[in-house]
Formats: sequence, structure tokens, C-alpha cells
Amino acid sequence: MTWTRRDFARLGAMGVAAHLAPQINAQAPERKTGVSTDGSPSVGSKTGYAVIGLGRIASHFMPGVRLTTNSQITGLVSGHRDKADRIAAEYGVPQNSIYSYDNFDEIANNKTIDAVYVALPNSMHAEYTIRAAKAGKHVLCEKPMATNVAECQAMIAACKAANVKLMIAYRCHYEPTNLRAIQLIRSGAIGQVQAIESAFGFDIAPGEWRLSKKMAGGGPLFDVGIYSLNACRYLTGEEPNRIAAFSSVIDRDGRFNEVEENVGWTMKFPSGIVASCNTTYGGSMEGYFRVHGAKGWIDVNPAFIYEGLHLRADCDGKPIDEPNPARDPSQFQAEAGHFSHCVQSGVEPQSPGEEGLRDLSYITMIYRSAGIAI
Ligand code: NDP
Repeated sequence: MTWTRRDFARLGAMGVAAHLAPQINAQAPERKTGVSTDGSPSVGSKTGYAVIGLGRIASHFMPGVRLTTNSQITGLVSGHRDKADRIAAEYGVPQNSIYSYDNFDEIANNKTIDAVYVALPNSMHAEYTIRAAKAGKHVLCEKPMATNVAECQAMIAACKAANVKLMIAYRCHYEPTNLRAIQLIRSGAIGQVQAIESAFGFDIAPGEWRLSKKMAGGGPLFDVGIYSLNACRYLTGEEPNRIAAFSSVIDRDGRFNEVEENVGWTMKFPSGIVASCNTTYGGSMEGYFRVHGAKGWIDVNPAFIYEGLHLRADCDGKPIDEPNPARDPSQFQAEAGHFSHCVQSGVEPQSPGEEGLRDLSYITMIYRSAGIAI
């Protein structure tokens, strides 16, 4: 079967995504929304976002927002005013909607800002989520949700107390190729799933905040291994009940004095499905997953990057080859479109704070099993 660009756009539309992935989050309510031509749910006015931290991921998110019909960038928060001024000019953000980390709390008085997008180093997610909630703003927070379980719980509590929505930016939950894999599995196309393999990693440059335990919480598992962990959960629709892990440092070149270089872990799910995952900061490891069923297999490679995703499968002898033609920043468009829809219509996000909390609790178990202090 060959999929067209239109098929993918339609599959990525939020209402359809919810239909295809009913177990991605069992608590997600059914969405009833119209769908615009660009795939964003079509709802009245636009949700205004203040982007906190104008780094690499923000530079994908902001163009994605621009493609939606229901979202816009209305504020910027940065430690670098010159950079903020340049981006403000690009997105039409007025000077009085640019904030520093010091005067951030003044966003409470800015009616053009409905929500914040937290694109900061991991250790700052909890602080800025809680401050944003206290300012009465909804929060879309990058993954990993925080650096430990207690921070996740505090973030959820703060957003509940302020009656604002909290979503963790798991863009694969809104991505058509990942959703297609879920749909094939749930339809029984490869029979009972027996095993999953997944990996994601890269060769990290020295000097990154990601190598600081204080700022990152941990190593590649927090950063990119989390994609494999989360994928095993949405592919099976189950929560792991047994976890075993190993970690190592091979390159004694000063990069891994605080965080691990490699983690390998296995998970057993209640149905008996077993998953085997790896993550590294020591070399290029293309993000993929391979699902082995009783009647076939699904291979998505790459599965986790911003574009060029490719699904191949054998469903009981029937081959499937579906390259995804969508280009960056379509995943960020879908993610922002979904959260704005939730803000505007009052429904819960597909990937709420509780989803981020679950991953942090499994990361904690993986670290404990590997003998890493967290
Ligand atoms: P960057 O280092 O590129 O950007 C982080 C930004 O945070 C900086 O540019 C800076 O913005 C601000 N910042 C504030 N204080 C600090 C500090 N002490 N050190 C460094 N930066 C600071 O990081 P990324 O954009 O790669 O990652 C940000 C978050 O997004 C992380 O949580 C990461 O896990 C997540 N992420 C998610 C991805 C996804 O696909 N969903 C992909 C990549 C990252 P300013 O100069 O404006 O103050």
C-alpha cells in the first residue's frame, strides 16, 4: 500500500490520531473537532504562546506554530535580548512581550499570552512550569518532563491548582508514522506482539549542558533513550512490570564524568511482551523500533527524528512500504495544534503531565537497576 502526502496529513489530524491510538493514553477523552486543510483542529481564535528558552528545539517549534491555524507566538523569554529581538521581529512579537528569566512572572499581566512552551534545559522545566501555572498560563513542556519524579508531581499539582493544562511535548504521539504502527498492531495485522527492539543515540559534543547531571538529570536515557522507552509503551499499550538495565562509560575523554555514556535495558510487559532498548551519547545510533509479532513484523527506521520517517512491515505475508513525505516542522505543527485545541475546547491533552511522570518513574527504575544514583 502506498500512502500519499494527503493520507499522512489526514492521519496526523488530531481527531484521527485519537481514533487510531486509543491506548496511547487511556485517559485521553475522545476529541470532537473539525479539521482544517493543514491538519490543525479548526477552532476559533488563536492560542498565544510565550516560548521560554530560544535554543535549538524552539527553532523548530516556532515555525511549526506558524503553520497552524489555531496558534501563534505572542511572547518570548530569553537570557539574550539581542536574539529575542531578532526572533520577535520575525514573528511579530511586540517589545513589551519580551521577558528575561528575572521578570518572567510579569507574563501574568499579558493577556496575549495564553500558554508557555518550556524549551529550557531539563533542570529548569519544573521551575518554569510552576511559575507559568502561578501566572495563570497553560504549559506545554519539553521532554523529559523534569529531572526526577518529585519535580513531575509538583508540576502536575501546580497546574491542577491553577486550573491550567499541562502537556508534555511527546511529538511522536501526534506523528502519523508512529500512529500507523500503533494502528497496525491494534488491528492484529502482525498477530500477537512478542518482542520489540528500539534504540536512539548520538555522539555528543563536549561542553553541552546535557553532560551536566545537575542540568540534565542524567545522560542519554533522559534525552533520547526516552523515545524508545515511550515508544515501547505506546506500541504495546501496556506499562512495563519488570525492568533490568546496564550502563557503561567507554570513552574516558572527560565527557562522561557526571552522566553515563551508554544504557541498555530490557522491559517485560504484563502480556509477556519483552522489549530490548539501547541509548548512547558515544556514537550515532539512528532512532528506530522493530516490532516482532506472531504473524509478521513492523520496522520503523527512522522513527523519532523530525522528517524522513519510514515504515516497512510484513503483515502475514503482505508487504508494506510507507515512506512518510512530511517535512519538518510538521510534527511541531501537529503538537502545537493539538495543545491549542485542548486549551480552547477544554479537553485533556493526549500526553498530559502524568505521561511524563510515568516515564520519569521508569527512568528511575532503569537507573536503579543499572546502579546509577538518581
Ligand atoms: P539548547 O541548549 O539548544 O537551548 C536551551 C535554551 O535554554 C538556550 O538556548 C537558552 O535560551 C535557555 N537557557 C536558559 N538557561 C540556560 C542554561 N543555564 N544553559 C543553557 N541554556 C539555557 O537546548 P535544546 O533546545 O536542544 O533542548 C531544550 C529542551 O528541549 C530539553 O529539555 C530537551 O530535552 C528538549 N528537546 C526536545 C526535542 C524534541 O524533539 N522534542 C529535541 C531536542 C531537545 P536563551 O539564550 O534564549 O536564554
